[in-house]
Amino acid sequence: MADKLTLDIVTPYGSVFSDEVDEVVAPGTEGEFGVLPGHVPFITTLNIGILTYKKGGSTGYVFVNSGYAEVSDDRVLILADSAEKAEDIDVERAKAAMKRAEERMKKQEEIDFARAQAALQRAVTRIEAAKKAGHGG
Ligand code: ATP
Repeated sequence: MADKLTLDIVTPYGSVFSDEVDEVVAPGTEGEFGVLPGHVPFITTLNIGILTYKKGGSTGYVFVNSGYAEVSDDRVLILADSAEKAEDIDVERAKAAMKRAEERMKKQEEIDFARAQAALQRAVTRIEAAKKAGHGG
């Protein structure tokens, strides 16, 4: 059994992260789950949330926008609709997206409330991820 995990985070926009890490905690739709080397294989869907990984003495944060995770053979593969490493998040852009979504949700005639709500959740979670990484908050 290896003592490392390979973490790959892939989106339709390209690869966001690919490295060997010690531990991963990800936002599964059934709840947060942790993966250490030697974990049994499984597949789950993901929520909008923050993935955390540990490597050496440091902790990294990655925003993930839904998708799915597959764990097998000491590899964690995340396929997400979009994702950014916390340090790559444009906080001003997320704040603007948050404002737009809030405005839309205020309008009575808004027919796509769920869509605005998801956009708001993405924006708020991006801002939170950037804060965790100590940038832009
Ligand atoms: P926006 O309304 O600002 O486009 P969004 O939540 O609709 O936000 P997504 O559809 O999740 O955006 O992502 C589209 C692309 O833009 C992806 O490549 C994603 O990584 C990138 N992206 C979105 N918001 C940010 C951000 N705040 N900082 C960095 N990259 C971002």
